[in-house]
Amino acid sequence: MRTWKPVGVVLAGLAMALVFVTSSPAGGPAAPEDYEMQPEVVAPGVYAVMTPARDFPSRENLGWNANMAFVVTGEGVLVFDTGSSETMGVALRAAIREVTDQPVRWIVNSHSHGDHWLGNHAFAEDDPEIMAGPEAIERMEAEAETWVENFREMTEGATGDTTPLLPNTPVDERVTRDLGGKEVVIVPSGGAHSPGDLIVWLPQTKILLAGDVVYSDRAPSVWDGDVARWIELLDELIALEPDVVVPGHGRLEGAETLPRLQNYLATLWDAIEEGVDQGLPDYETVPLVRERMADIIEDYPGFEDKIDRSVATTYPDVEAAVF
Ligand SMILES: [Zn+2]
Repeated sequence: MRTWKPVGVVLAGLAMALVFVTSSPAGGPAAPEDYEMQPEVVAPGVYAVMTPARDFPSRENLGWNANMAFVVTGEGVLVFDTGSSETMGVALRAAIREVTDQPVRWIVNSHSHGDHWLGNHAFAEDDPEIMAGPEAIERMEAEAETWVENFREMTEGATGDTTPLLPNTPVDERVTRDLGGKEVVIVPSGGAHSPGDLIVWLPQTKILLAGDVVYSDRAPSVWDGDVARWIELLDELIALEPDVVVPGHGRLEGAETLPRLQNYLATLWDAIEEGVDQGLPDYETVPLVRERMADIIEDYPGFEDKIDRSVATTYPDVEAAVF
């Protein structure tokens, strides 16, 4: 059982929280060159484009708070996630051009949240195949304008205008494809972090492009997902034995990032279960969760911003599992 939160409500909450920390006047839209995107080689032909930001989209980070990646094959480029705005997509495109002249032929959007796909339109002239989970595509269609407006508000205009370009290829089961000589495995998460998440696994180089099913040094957003499924999925990802994991949010890490996140989620689940067993309502379970997770949260900044919602949305699932 999942608890759905309309995206507008969630983002309005974030935007209100940001009012207290940002006071500079609107600074207008950012230009592509304002984003310092420096592709890092993580394996031959595989590049990570990592944001230094660890917070929500803001004026300070110009809305760039999620990581991206791309793979240069013999016959074109595969892009994994395209950022929070069309301008960010243009910046990513320029960063790819520094590395190769090949067209972008394939895009995978890891999920429907706007920080991962609103840059798609920057690649429209290459007419790429754009893959996403069917549930994700449905939500992108319904929520695109809300994401664009909310990011504009949160960044005081930095993310500017965006023409949403929806994925054209639904992927609802695990597929292995040969893309220009590179073996690419596309794996649905089963709704772990959000409905329709996709993960990309590159078996030849043992690189995992995880999207938001992995947060390395940033507290994960669990409100849109299925924590029990997520814990299970992490076992499957651990079994792959990746050399490098590119998380949706946070720094590049090796396989050790996976059991650490699994421990975070399992401890969250168990602490809520304790609360349920004691007959506590969700809001009274929050202090218990804080206590049980005390040793874990220093690895995951932003925990306090997310704890109330994490407990509120996970509690009904724990309750349903217990009874
Ligand atoms: Zn994200």
